[in-house]
Amino acid sequence: STTPLKVAVTGAAGQIGYSLLFRLASGALGDRPIELRLLEIEPALKALEGVVMELDDCAFPLLSGVEIGADPTKIFDGVNLALLVGARPRGPGMERGDLLSANGAIFTAQGKALNEVAADDVRIGVTGNPANTNALIAMTNAVDIPNERFSALTRLDHNRAISQLATKTGASVNDIRKMTIWGNHSATQYPDLFHAEIAGKNAAEVVNDQAWVEEFFIPTVAKRGAAIIDARGASSAASAASATCNAARDWLNGTPADDWVSMAVVSDGSYGVPEGLISSFPVTTKDGDWKIVQGLEISEFSRGRIDASVAELADEKAAVTELGLI
Ligand code: NDP
Repeated sequence: STTPLKVAVTGAAGQIGYSLLFRLASGALGDRPIELRLLEIEPALKALEGVVMELDDCAFPLLSGVEIGADPTKIFDGVNLALLVGARPRGPGMERGDLLSANGAIFTAQGKALNEVAADDVRIGVTGNPANTNALIAMTNAVDIPNERFSALTRLDHNRAISQLATKTGASVNDIRKMTIWGNHSATQYPDLFHAEIAGKNAAEVVNDQAWVEEFFIPTVAKRGAAIIDARGASSAASAASATCNAARDWLNGTPADDWVSMAVVSDGSYGVPEGLISSFPVTTKDGDWKIVQGLEISEFSRGRIDASVAELADEKAAVTELGLI
């Protein structure tokens, strides 16, 4: 179709936004024209104007328009895709409850605004942390939008896991399929290579090194964000933007027949994850809909890891319920 896809990005003047907007405008979602609708808080609008000047200066053939503002009911009007990147980072001395309530205010308002004005076919991807719980808050506050339209980003973790496995085995990332991230986008996440394949062979059998899996692979993937902050002096932004594009593209356009991706989506009780939690699963997508991959055998080791991360999600849900956010 040549009607532009209307894509909202929140936190558009931030670090991730600075990579994301240029990827979206240069065709990361496909060759359909796009219109960008950029939301920021008032104090960041001036910086955002500068970013828009740079977007203009790229003369992107696919970019049919850009609108900016601080009012979600204006910016989300008619959007087909909303990428919720802006979130309140944890400041010095901030307790977890403070973080959850600061983000609760943002994501209740945005969920309500999306409910009111987004297009009927809207899909909503949450990148801003704590991503799973922010998505849960937005989903619960968007009463008329089907729950299946919300997801939180675990694609960066998924990509990190593929990269680590490729490095370990000398394989190309192109040969790796069926990686899975389970649970929360946090340090408790469980990157699972037991169902992954390298050129059609079971990855765990190719690696054949449980100590590496437990002592290197899992912690390296889970703590990669901190390692990047250490090295770069700033959090990962380009890779988070890249993963946000990958996730949106695959959601809208579908996954290949012999592969799946990781997305945090509302649980239907699959794999013992309590119904209603937004937890990462292996999913396939087609025509803008996702399905949790069924029937995977879960070892005792994997069970423990999944349960620990899901328990953290249940705690976060209890905390935001107590705060009256959902
Ligand atoms: P970034 O663009 O670096 O990060 C934005 C969000 O993405 C944060 O919650 C961050 O979580 C999360 N994130 C960062 N890295 C990753 C990763 N590797 N994987 C997954 N998620 C990740 O932050 P900035 O501070 O540069 O920009 C945020 C912008 O959002 C600011 O311009 C601010 O004004 C804006 N904002 C807009 C709002 C709105 O539109 N209403 C509301 C709130 C903020 P973490 O903190 O854990 O790194």
